[in-house]
Amino acid sequence: MTTLLGKTAFITGAALGIGRASAIRLARQGAALCLVDNQADRLLSLKEEIESLQGEVMTVTADVTDSNAVMDAFAQFAAWGKSLDILFSNAGVAGLLTTIEDMPEEEWDRIMAVNLKGAFLTVKHAIPLMKKKGGNVILTSSIHGNRIFNSYGMTVYSTSKAGLTAFAKAAALELARYKIRVNVICPGAIDTTINDCLVRSDALSEVIIPVEYPEGKYPFGVGKADQIADLVAFLASEQASYISGTEIYIDGARSLI
Ligand code: NAP
Repeated sequence: MTTLLGKTAFITGAALGIGRASAIRLARQGAALCLVDNQADRLLSLKEEIESLQGEVMTVTADVTDSNAVMDAFAQFAAWGKSLDILFSNAGVAGLLTTIEDMPEEEWDRIMAVNLKGAFLTVKHAIPLMKKKGGNVILTSSIHGNRIFNSYGMTVYSTSKAGLTAFAKAAALELARYKIRVNVICPGAIDTTINDCLVRSDALSEVIIPVEYPEGKYPFGVGKADQIADLVAFLASEQASYISGTEIYIDGARSLI
């Protein structure tokens, strides 16, 4: 396992799912962690778990759509006195699945704000802390933003995740002069709680073209957050030192069907 000793990572959407699994993985590899999420109690339980692994950790409760809150999170990080080596901008929501015609404007704005603007704000305010020494940024997109569009009702989710891929590529070029690598991971179906708050509108029945696979659901089944954490740890390591501006699909071939 590659060591991340002496490195510090800042992770958003850290309290659950992919963020949580990645936090534990990076801590096991020796990284100190700043964990950001909008749920204070969940952050506390993760902090205790990581401290039980002898990991060094601070937490900040913040909503990534709130510019002041994100700035304050980085100010608290800076006061901690560590260098910012790894940024995993991962907070995201799925929200309402419905037709374009039926989509409330406020819901469109909410999903875009968390998934796309949240990443922009996080990267924007990380740059001043990262640019002297270099580092690396990992963004969480989705196969729904790049390779698969047959999950009806995900227009806003897909649009936000496609935006992240474009953002990552533009950022990779812009930040190369500071030795900051930027990559974007595109998971398939991963077993987390993200779909617990997902609402499927009846309006979808009007537009769905039914697709049935002959047997099974996905070639390698549903993924685990730990499998995404493996990729995050790899991209955060020196073994990925020449990888920047790349989207990486991690979906067990699901999006090729
Ligand atoms: P998850 O289990 O719901 O964890 C996401 C965490 O981010 C939750 O603690 C969530 O809190 C937090 N969060 C949401 N909005 C936030 C905000 N505005 N500010 C700060 N924290 C916020 O989801 P996950 O499955 O691990 O997803 C992580 C990322 O992977 C997301 O960007 C998602 O789009 C992407 N992804 C997931 C899958 C999948 O199948 N799971 C596939 C492709 C991509 P709340 O519970 O309060 O929302």
